[in-house]
Amino acid sequence: MKQAYDFADQYQDWMQARMDALPQPVSFQHGVALSLNGQEITLNLKLDLTRKNTSISLKNNELIVLSNKHDPSVRIMRWLKTYAKDVLQKKSQEKALSISKNIEKVSVRDTKSRWGSCSSDKTLSYSWRLIFAPPEALDYVVAHEVAHLKHLNHSKAFWNLCRELSDDFINGQFWMRNHGHELMKYGAIKEPLKRLVE
Ligand SMILES: [Zn+2]
Repeated sequence: MKQAYDFADQYQDWMQARMDALPQPVSFQHGVALSLNGQEITLNLKLDLTRKNTSISLKNNELIVLSNKHDPSVRIMRWLKTYAKDVLQKKSQEKALSISKNIEKVSVRDTKSRWGSCSSDKTLSYSWRLIFAPPEALDYVVAHEVAHLKHLNHSKAFWNLCRELSDDFINGQFWMRNHGHELMKYGAIKEPLKRLVE
């Protein structure tokens, strides 16, 4: 048996092919609106030079960032990756449990060529950027990778299971294939933070 295997998925090919046609980048600046797994939130960034570290908390649809850094975007990205991992891990475990399969590990990365992967040692990897996708699209990618725990191919049985495990297979797959590349627009802050804490 192979140590590991790769899947060349259609939605991943799409992403690569459309990298050139990226929409306007979204930087993690004050006032920017983001959708986290369908929850609309606004970034509330405050510069506080007396602070020793950066604090980030999600309260009432606001991501409140108190930082001594003029550009806390790296911290915000780290927070979002952890948030994404929690969501993806929970959803993966739920779906795996429903088909009596075990997951060894769930990891998130900033993958450029694929949204998700499933290795033969039962490790699922996802792009943290899926957190910005509509819930049905994130759900579809999770269903896809969890279905690979049972079927190590893209057979008819695989697609039937993927459909079964998806909340909304049609719309989720459609979104990933046609809009998935847009997830690459989320990135670093462009201008230094000048807004002082009130
Ligand atoms: Zn696949």
